[in-house]
Amino acid sequence: MSPQYVGRFAPSPTGPLHFGSLLAAVGSYLEARVRQGRWLLRIEDVDRPRTVAGAEHAILATLERFGFEWDGPVWRQSARDAVYGEALERLRRDGRVFDCGCTRREIADSAVGRDGAPRYPGTCRNGLPPGRAARTVRLRTEPGAVLCFEDRVLGRICEDVFSDVGDFILRRADGLFAYQLAVVVDDAASGVTDVVRGADLVDSTCRQLWLQRCLGLPAPSYAHLPVGTNAAGTKLSKQTFAPPLDDDRPGPALHAALAFLGQAPPAELAGWPPATIWAWAAANWRLSAVPKTRAVVVPDEFQENPA
Ligand code: GLU
Repeated sequence: MSPQYVGRFAPSPTGPLHFGSLLAAVGSYLEARVRQGRWLLRIEDVDRPRTVAGAEHAILATLERFGFEWDGPVWRQSARDAVYGEALERLRRDGRVFDCGCTRREIADSAVGRDGAPRYPGTCRNGLPPGRAARTVRLRTEPGAVLCFEDRVLGRICEDVFSDVGDFILRRADGLFAYQLAVVVDDAASGVTDVVRGADLVDSTCRQLWLQRCLGLPAPSYAHLPVGTNAAGTKLSKQTFAPPLDDDRPGPALHAALAFLGQAPPAELAGWPPATIWAWAAANWRLSAVPKTRAVVVPDEFQENPA
C-alpha cells in the first residue's frame, strides 16, 4: 500500500481527446489505481493561443463517459499565472534566468540539438546586446550538467541539457509562461509523485529535472508510454487528423488502448461497460508489460479521420 502516490493526467485543451491522448489517460489512471494513489486532472491551458473553445468541456465529457474518476477539483493552468510569475521571480533573484532579445529566426541558424530543434547559442546570457529589447526570459543551463533519470518504462535516460538544448525559454515573447515552467511548478504544487505520460515528452524531462533543481523542488518519478503513430510513423495528433474518441463507444477504444499498452485484454472486454473494464484493468494492469519503445503504430480506425 502506498497512499502517498499522486499521479495526474494533463491534457491540453487544443481539441477533443483522441486515441493518442487516451493512452496517457489510461496508463496514468491505472498506475495510480494499482498503487492505491490519487489521480489528478489538470487542464494545461497555459498556451492561450492554442486553446480551443469548448475543448475542455469535450475532454471532461469524454473522460466521464469512459468512466475515469479523478480526485479533487480540476486544476487549470490559466488560473495560475501569479504562481508561475513568483517562481520566475525567485529564479531571477537567484541569478538563474536572463532576458533574451533574440528572435526565433536569429536562433534558427544555430547548431541543432539532439531533438532536432536549434540549440540556443547563448547570445544574451551575459546581457542584452546594445539596442536590443528583452523578448523572452531564459533559464541558464550549466556546462557539464548531465541530468539522468530512471524511466520506469524506457530505463535510464540522460541528457546534457547545456549542450543539447542550451538556455531554454520560461517566458515567451508573447508574455505567456512556457509549458516547462508551468508543468514543473504544478506537479510540485499538487504533490505529484509519479508522472506517467507519452514518450513525446521524454525529451522535455531532463529540462524539467534541471528546472526542479533550480527551484529546489523534488523530482517525481517518470514513466513514458509509447505514443501512437500512423503507418508512416507520424505521431497521432490533431494535426494528423486523429479522430476524436466516440463518447458512445468507450469499450472498443479502451480495449484497443489496453492492447496497445501490452496488457493483453480479452476480446470480449470491448463489449463491456466502463466500470467492468476498469475492474478487469485494475486487477490486471502491469506497467512492466508496456512496450519499452517510444512509438507503436495504432489500429487503423483510431488513426485518421477521412476528410
Ligand atoms: N499537456 C501535455 C499534452 O497534452 C502533457 C504534459 C505532461 O504530461 O507533462 O501533451
